[in-house]
Amino acid sequence: MALIVQKYGGTSVANIERVRNVAARIIKTKNEGNKVVVVVSAMAGETDRLISLAKEITDKPNERELDMLISTGEQVSVALLAIMLNSMGYPALSYVAHQIKIITDDKFGRARIREIESERILEELDKDKIVIVAGFQGIDSQNNITTLGRGGSDTSAVAIAAALKADICEIYTDVEGVFTTDPNIYSKARKLDKISYEEMLEMASLGAKVLQIRSVEFAKKYGVLIHVRSSFSDKPGTIVCEEEISMEKVVVSGVTYTKNDARIAINKLPDKPGVAAKIFDAIAKKGIIVDMIIQTSSMDTGYANLAFTVSKADLNKTLELTKQVAKKLGAKEVTYDENIAKISMVGVGMRSHSGVASKMFSTLAKEGINIQMISTSEIKISCIIDAKYTELAIRSLHDAFELEKG
Ligand code: ASP
Ligand code: MG
Repeated sequence: MALIVQKYGGTSVANIERVRNVAARIIKTKNEGNKVVVVVSAMAGETDRLISLAKEITDKPNERELDMLISTGEQVSVALLAIMLNSMGYPALSYVAHQIKIITDDKFGRARIREIESERILEELDKDKIVIVAGFQGIDSQNNITTLGRGGSDTSAVAIAAALKADICEIYTDVEGVFTTDPNIYSKARKLDKISYEEMLEMASLGAKVLQIRSVEFAKKYGVLIHVRSSFSDKPGTIVCEEEISMEKVVVSGVTYTKNDARIAINKLPDKPGVAAKIFDAIAKKGIIVDMIIQTSSMDTGYANLAFTVSKADLNKTLELTKQVAKKLGAKEVTYDENIAKISMVGVGMRSHSGVASKMFSTLAKEGINIQMISTSEIKISCIIDAKYTELAIRSLHDAFELEKG
């Protein structure tokens, strides 16, 4: 007998028919002799619908009240699922965050889970009940309702699995698992049987949308085994787990892309100590995260060129700030480019293998794709390229590294 946490996303509970399918799967798991705790998201599109209602009133809805509003989507889906299970003859109880006590900090809209009381859930499981918990929500120390950020039900599920010391956390979604690349871009994309937490973290932050990043951080910290799988098939999906020795043999696990970044360049910046500090200080003070940075300076002219990327959402704010500081520092001009893509190769095997970077660069060169910026970490290499070459870059890298083979 195992304790299994299952999480079903919005598309898996999009209508009553699908809720029935989810119930059937839960019943199957229960009948195999397991204790089952279920975490559900709001029905597909519901959270967006609630947000747009608030936006009809104002562009900046009060944060506490917005969380009060958007947390209701999950209350509907947990109740419907519990009604379904009970009507099928399986006693089930639905709960929202304050009934369980899922305690978070007080950052509305992006709250972090601090603690989960497990007693009530464990008691009901001992009475042979199926326990269903609303994802995405928590309460702060003042009992205000909070939400965990978009896609937050993944994090709810992993956190509950950690608190209950569950054997596994199954994340049911509308794709079959984690792929070597986006199957919508390249049909040769292959489903990975296993991936390490670290690789998954990189892939999630580099554009793979299967899991909320924070859920992976949580799983890594508490050693929660995750199984990402499809709610529309019985095939096994991808296991996200601690790095294993055999994983090192695979040099590259996947190639991802994101078009969420924009590049800002400062041309002819006087090259002297302190200029970079002034620029990035101003940006950091506004809480804006800078991703890649390159600086080229020419010794004889006394000028440097500086370029960096930020998320597109922060572009306008950053551009304004940069122009102010650049002017004070006497730079010639500030330009920007939104039509860029960041292509990244990820793999724990990179730690012990060399040559990945050069193979990546030569593959892009063969396709005539210019690399605008490069950044590397222990298990990742990223290149900024013109966004219009995204598909070409992904396909040629996938082929060059023979990712379809596994
Ligand atoms: N319903 C929330 C959202 O749409 C949480 C989730 O789906 O995980 O972001
Ligand atoms: Mg999701």
